[in-house]
Amino acid sequence: MPKKIPTRIYLEEDEIPSCWYNLRADMKDKPDPILHPGTLKPVTQADMEMIFCREPVKQELDDTTRLIPIPEGIMDFYRAYRPSPLIRAYYLEKALGTPAEIYYKFEGTNTSGSHKLNSAGPQAYYAKEEGLSSLTTETGAGQWGTAMSMACAFFGLDLTVYMVKISSIQKPYRKALMETYGAKLIPSPSNTTESGRKILESDPDTNGSLGCAISEAVETAVKTDKCRYVLGSVLNHVLLHQSVIGLETKAALDKYGIKPDVIIGCAGGGSNLGGLIAPFMGDRIAGKSQTRFIAVEPASCPSFTRGRYAYDFGDTAKTTPLIRMRTLGNGFIPSANHAGGLRYHGMNSTLSKLYQDGYLEARAAAQTDVFDAAVKFMKVEGILPAPESSHAIMAAVDEALECKKLGEKKVILFGLTGTGYFDLSAYTAYNDKSMSDHIPTDGDLERGFASIPDIPQNK
Ligand SMILES: *Cc1c(COP(=O)(O)O)cnc(C)c1O
Repeated sequence: MPKKIPTRIYLEEDEIPSCWYNLRADMKDKPDPILHPGTLKPVTQADMEMIFCREPVKQELDDTTRLIPIPEGIMDFYRAYRPSPLIRAYYLEKALGTPAEIYYKFEGTNTSGSHKLNSAGPQAYYAKEEGLSSLTTETGAGQWGTAMSMACAFFGLDLTVYMVKISSIQKPYRKALMETYGAKLIPSPSNTTESGRKILESDPDTNGSLGCAISEAVETAVKTDKCRYVLGSVLNHVLLHQSVIGLETKAALDKYGIKPDVIIGCAGGGSNLGGLIAPFMGDRIAGKSQTRFIAVEPASCPSFTRGRYAYDFGDTAKTTPLIRMRTLGNGFIPSANHAGGLRYHGMNSTLSKLYQDGYLEARAAAQTDVFDAAVKFMKVEGILPAPESSHAIMAAVDEALECKKLGEKKVILFGLTGTGYFDLSAYTAYNDKSMSDHIPTDGDLERGFASIPDIPQNK
């Protein structure tokens, strides 16, 4: 008799992986190198260390080491909230009447409410080890800022968070939570930096964007002694840290001999998706599986499905290194009516490369459809999902209904990245039907594309 698969598949504490998995080491065609914006040559460790912490930069530039040991200090941090559960969505399967098996890895069990803590911990740990005293960062929806506030409290570092202005107004409790953990919160754009003042001069009523907030955080880090900037998504070292999600998931599935046919993740900058799929994508690249991978992004910020593959800056003030990625242009400002995160203009370079090479599929979802799926899910599975995570739920439901139509018994896995307790105003808008869908026109996108740098590499 095959073992009955439990509703929640838990790992033991000593089954938290002891190494992160660097997918780039197993890619035959690697993502293009990050370029220095002045020389247009590949960046060096020294270039990157002006902005970022030393060890994460090493990891960023390393595309050959497959397994990177997780230091004991970080394992200790992980044990405070990991392993996270892998859940069989029996109730959702029943509600949909699908023959498919649906599983989700739930990263919302910690106080920050999302997977972001998996990289916040390591980044704070490395900063402390390096002898730094403070960090700066930006936050959009607030999950990264919260995770970083928790990690800095744990490791004893000061933190300044530039929070996208519209989010700081829409999410006062996020702000309160970060401040309670001891972080200093500044709505962005602000007059505390040159880049902030410049943005305010040209557009005093701006809602702000992640790109603006990043410019401010980077500027402050560069100008402050013993201070560096940390980023919660997009970069490859963040995906490396997030591989803990995929490794745990694979270990749990292996216990029951389960092989996913489709793996789905929501995509903002790509960190949860990249982390969840990493070991499974390694198998696919090695020819050991035929698993399909699907990224789901908001139709209001469609960097995979409507973006360009080009070298672009990570921020609006054009100060960061250049990354070759799917991008809407650093000047793209998403509509303010979009509720969740996932509002960044670019996409991680490794995922962008996998998309270009046909290993990764992508689809864009309108937010009212995403909330329909979220509500369907929470009514039967009991968990209030984050709007970001609900993009993945929507695609999983669509896949499961397709299986029902075709009578196929596929195994569907998705990442449930977080909870939606700080997103209840968005749920209120959904309930009272004031939520709308904003899909940028081609003209809107052209304005963003015009901000992509005009360099030989982009010809
Ligand atoms: C930040 C966030 C995302 C999107 O970021 P990625 O880097 O694309 O993973 C998704 N879900 C939640 C809950 C988040 O906080």
